[in-house]
Amino acid sequence: MTREILKNPNPILRKKSTEIDIDKLEELQQLFLDMEETMMENDGAGLAAPQIGENIRAFVISHDKDIMFFINPQITKRSWAKKTEEEGCLSVVDEKGDIIYGKVERHRNINCVYYNEKGEKKKIAADKMLSRVIQHELDHLDGVLFIDRIKK
Ligand code: ZN
Repeated sequence: MTREILKNPNPILRKKSTEIDIDKLEELQQLFLDMEETMMENDGAGLAAPQIGENIRAFVISHDKDIMFFINPQITKRSWAKKTEEEGCLSVVDEKGDIIYGKVERHRNINCVYYNEKGEKKKIAADKMLSRVIQHELDHLDGVLFIDRIKK
């Protein structure tokens, strides 16, 4: 079921999300499906749980035709090298409802540990677009929006 995407300045988008109990992932499978459907329906590269009103530490990414769920993700390594590129967000729109874009500096490469939707522990070394999307979505779990990081 697709869900409504909360838009800035909804206060739910600004809350720090809580860790998920990995033993209780079964109860969240429907929510994960809803996140995937909502992301695909809106042509998003990623969607974090708070964007559909759930302040828990999970996001989904669409990458190279793969759907990847990140649960309790943690970045364990960040490159010194950074890169500035344009980003947009399904939750950041103008008064007409159109997505706002802006240039954001991010670490070029990151390592991230997380659990997938089955509760398996995973580790990924990400660069390029994947690295950027993970950093963007992880920010959502801490109540941070990309507009907070836009270069003046
Ligand atoms: Zn976003």
